[in-house]
Amino acid sequence: MMLENKVALVTGGSRGIGRAICVHLASLGATVGVNYVANSAAAEETLGQIQTAGGKGFMVRFDIADPGAVQQSIKETIAGYGQIDILVNNAGITRDGLVALMSEKDWDSVLDTNLKGAFLCSKAVVRTMMKKRWGRIINVSSVVGFVGNGGQVNYAAAKAGLTGLTKAMARELAGRNITVNCVAPGYIVTDMTDNLQEDVQESLKAQIPLGTLGAPEDVAAAVAFLASPGGNYMTGQTLHVNGGMYMGH
Ligand code: NAP
Repeated sequence: MMLENKVALVTGGSRGIGRAICVHLASLGATVGVNYVANSAAAEETLGQIQTAGGKGFMVRFDIADPGAVQQSIKETIAGYGQIDILVNNAGITRDGLVALMSEKDWDSVLDTNLKGAFLCSKAVVRTMMKKRWGRIINVSSVVGFVGNGGQVNYAAAKAGLTGLTKAMARELAGRNITVNCVAPGYIVTDMTDNLQEDVQESLKAQIPLGTLGAPEDVAAAVAFLASPGGNYMTGQTLHVNGGMYMGH
């Protein structure tokens, strides 16, 4: 039980990659806050999976793009559970479109959720981590932030931005024994990629040396590593979990 007595907050823990992260961290002994914004039934399902496996967790609904809601909910969580030791900034959305046609609204909502949301949640937890002189912040980026993708200028910009945010926070917080890292998934089978057509999936697979799309559990394992003692000496890094699709540095 490597994460016994730790409290983790996973944004977007109700579905997909976030759910797998919640279940994995709870299996290591952490008490896991399952954040979601709309789908309470899915969040309940995540909590159910945690509890069925003998773990501990709770649900916490807030919109990571809403500064007041983030501040209030994280304050209440810290008051209720005493601390947040591990923050996983996982929640994300897509609003795809070609740049010439993309509305400012679609640009703003993706940047507000995928990039500003990570800033807001980090800002709300770091004081407690600094006082405890221990913290782990893990940001879920994307291969798209490294290689780009037509039709996703908003998403690629937000995910590339997370890399800079991660490195700057890593430098700022290292002195307090708080590490900040990224995990950059490739193509993972979740609701987000559910609508990819068969031919698109086949052409994606052709670009992946390991030959298959990934599973949420593949990403969760990398996140769990960074949160566990094995990851203690890593900060400001990105772990690429993409079947070899992009061999980053
Ligand atoms: P998903 O299945 O679409 O789930 C998205 C999760 O984010 C849900 O739990 C959703 O909550 C939550 N969420 C969305 N907007 C939110 C907000 N404003 N406030 C709080 N929670 C919010 O997505 P996924 O595929 O698991 O992706 C998870 C992360 O991995 C994202 O950051 C995504 O960009 C990244 N990623 C995914 C892939 C992939 O291939 N799937 C690849 C690279 C990176 P509700 O259930 O309440 O809606």
